[in-house]
Amino acid sequence: MQRCLRFHTTKPHTLRKGRQAQESLFMNYITGITRGGTSWVPSFITALNEATCIGCGRCFKVCSRKVFDLVEREEDEDNDDGFSDDTSMVMRLTDAMDCIGCLACAQVCPKKCHSHGPQALPA
Ligand code: SF4
Ligand code: SF4
Repeated sequence: MQRCLRFHTTKPHTLRKGRQAQESLFMNYITGITRGGTSWVPSFITALNEATCIGCGRCFKVCSRKVFDLVEREEDEDNDDGFSDDTSMVMRLTDAMDCIGCLACAQVCPKKCHSHGPQALPA
């Protein structure tokens, strides 16, 4: 029986384009360096969607910086039925400038509340 082997190779120009895109990322954005000496581009927190947050506190626990605060959710006056006295909690982004871009918060959030992105270097 004849076997058909297929090899998937990446074309040189595709590799070149990928390398150029990576180099441009390293030149234009804040970069970090691993202990082993490899460069990487941190993805910093840009927003937290309080509307979808369930106040579970997971992101607060994993974050090694003082970026979040668990606060009482403000009452929505339109939905106030006058019967509930429960206080629900919500995570708030309090100091995005302290973020180191590790993405740990995004990995533990069950509701995908966080948005992240690389930070461009000042021109
Ligand atoms: S990316 Fe890391 S440092 Fe930044 S807010 Fe999330 S857990 Fe904290
Ligand atoms: S992990 Fe997500 S759902 Fe839980 S508190 Fe943080 S933002 Fe809210």
